[in-house]
Amino acid sequence: MRCPFCGTERDRVVDTRSSKEGRAIRRRRECLACGKRFTTYEAIELVPLQVVKLDGRREPYDRQKLLLGMVTACTKRPVNLETIEAAVDRIEEKLEEQLEGSQSRRGASEIEGAWLGERVMEELEEIDPVAYVRFASVYRKFQDVTEFMDELKGLSGGEE
Ligand SMILES: [Zn+2]
Repeated sequence: MRCPFCGTERDRVVDTRSSKEGRAIRRRRECLACGKRFTTYEAIELVPLQVVKLDGRREPYDRQKLLLGMVTACTKRPVNLETIEAAVDRIEEKLEEQLEGSQSRRGASEIEGAWLGERVMEELEEIDPVAYVRFASVYRKFQDVTEFMDELKGLSGGEE
C-alpha cells in the first residue's frame, strides 16, 4: 500500500479486522518510512459465498448462523458475546485468506463446510473447554458444518 503521507510503498499492518457484515477488511497500517499510520479498506466478496456440504450441496454462508452455533455451544458458560464475535471475525479473516488463495484456481466463491468446522473448533478450544467438547461431539457426529449448527440449536432448546 502506498503511504498517503510520503508515498512509500513499504508498510506494516498493525491491526486487521473485518467489518461487522464481513464485507470488508479494515487494516491499520504504519508506514515504514515516515512512521505515520493510515487505514485501508479492502472489499471482500461481491459474489455470495457458498458453503459446500459433504454431500456436495451448497448453501449461502451465514455469519449469523455461525455465531449462533458458537453462542449455543457456550450456553451457560462464562463466555461473553464480544469474545464470540471476535472469534467469528478471526474465522472470517482466515476465510478471506483462504479464498484469496483458491479463487484464481477455481473461479468460484466457495468454502468447504469441513474447513469452516475446523476453524470453529480451533476458536472454541481457545475460548472454553466445555463449549469445545460440546461442539466437537456434535461435529464428529455430523461432519457437516451446516447440519451440526442446526443440531446445536436443538441442544439448547432441550436444556430449558
Ligand atoms: Zn509514509
